[in-house]
Amino acid sequence: MKNMDFDIVVVGGGILGLSHAYHCLKSGYKVALIEKNDLPRDASVRNFGQVVPSGFNSQWQQYGLESLRLYKEIQQQVDITVRQEGTVYIASNDEEVQLIEELAAINHRNGYASLLLSQRNCLDRYPGIKPAYARAGLFFPEEIVVDPRLAVARLIGYCCEQLSLQYIPHTTIKEIVRSNGRIHLDSTSGVTFTADKVFVCSGNEFQLLYPHLFRQSDLKIVKLQMMDTVPQPSVRIAGSVLTGWTIRRYESFQECASYAGIKAREDQQAYHLQHGVHILFKQLLDGAVVIGDSHHYTPVSQHAVADFDTSAALNAFMIAEAQKIYQLDDWQIRNTWLGFYCQCASREVYNETIDEHIHIVTGIGGKGMTGSLGYAKEHITKLLSVSV
Ligand SMILES: Cc1cc2nc3c(=O)[nH]c(=O)nc-3n(C[C@H](O)[C@H](O)[C@H](O)COP(=O)(O)OP(=O)(O)OC[C@H]3O[C@@H](n4cnc5c(N)ncnc54)[C@H](O)[C@@H]3O)c2cc1C
Repeated sequence: MKNMDFDIVVVGGGILGLSHAYHCLKSGYKVALIEKNDLPRDASVRNFGQVVPSGFNSQWQQYGLESLRLYKEIQQQVDITVRQEGTVYIASNDEEVQLIEELAAINHRNGYASLLLSQRNCLDRYPGIKPAYARAGLFFPEEIVVDPRLAVARLIGYCCEQLSLQYIPHTTIKEIVRSNGRIHLDSTSGVTFTADKVFVCSGNEFQLLYPHLFRQSDLKIVKLQMMDTVPQPSVRIAGSVLTGWTIRRYESFQECASYAGIKAREDQQAYHLQHGVHILFKQLLDGAVVIGDSHHYTPVSQHAVADFDTSAALNAFMIAEAQKIYQLDDWQIRNTWLGFYCQCASREVYNETIDEHIHIVTGIGGKGMTGSLGYAKEHITKLLSVSV
């Protein structure tokens, strides 16, 4: 039986595990990142790749801003596909215009740069936006997009080459125990790993290691439907384009004075609310346009019956709504896919410590690509009592 010894082992190579590994490495620890696949295949590579602190509440906006800074800093050293092209929220009616104006004022007070756009400005910056839809916009120039599949793989490569990360793919951790003051991790590859400290960042699969904790938690599994079009060489969509239903959905807008009244007037039976749909656009490096998304929530107590079907009707609905908003050359869909993440009902992140040195960190919900680097920095600083 082979044994490999580290200061810190991180289980799960998604963005949350990778972010924890990154900050431990920056503090000089000997770190292994263990991933059951060759490269991560779950939420961290199936997402939009929008890094949008503007969508967060005030506390999480700080984590998002730190993530933005770190993504840009790393991009200076290696191309992890970061493009600083900003985020725009397009308002389609009076209520949404009211909300973007209120959010602009909040961000102005907080010192986070944003710019209100007239309808003319919106059409000039985003020529595909339909004039009948766009009333006004709110633009955040600091924000970035990444192509998640490339970004996560390249960030792992960067950590291996520049920070001496030991990345251990094709290895599933099946048991974690503490004995004689050390943590022992038993794997399917026959290797036993030992460490002083372990972070379990195994996404919505943490029930494999801690089924009782998983069942007791108030986590929900969230299923999202997404798609992309065929590449469109003559279309150019800069950054993230978020629209009216996003304004009515994202946390940051919940801090606006008019939000509660506007939500109270919504018809909760509307199809898009029943399926958690909002319409977002983002262009990949190859020219394809990513469109999404929907949200279905299943409490973990019912996970055994969580549905894993892709609804063709829901995809058709999202395409029809997207067509009301944006003019594309070619609406032929190249791929559709599902993504899953878990999210706590009562807190922003699921965070439990077992035997003092085993830290389960998951349930970052829809915030992971934006919030993980910043959140992990604070988490590691607190736990390791070091400045990272
Ligand atoms: C469709 C979609 C769109 C999204 N869009 C955005 C967006 O635009 N911006 C944003 O900020 N966030 C977005 N999110 C949210 C974001 O993707 C997630 O919050 C984030 O990826 C969660 O990362 P994670 O590391 O916790 O989980 P995961 O990505 O699920 O990673 C967990 C990893 O652990 C590994 N693993 C599990 N068990 C074991 C084990 N026992 N041994 C070894 N390895 C194991 C798995 O293989 C996996 O790679 C989106 C999510 C989805 C699904």
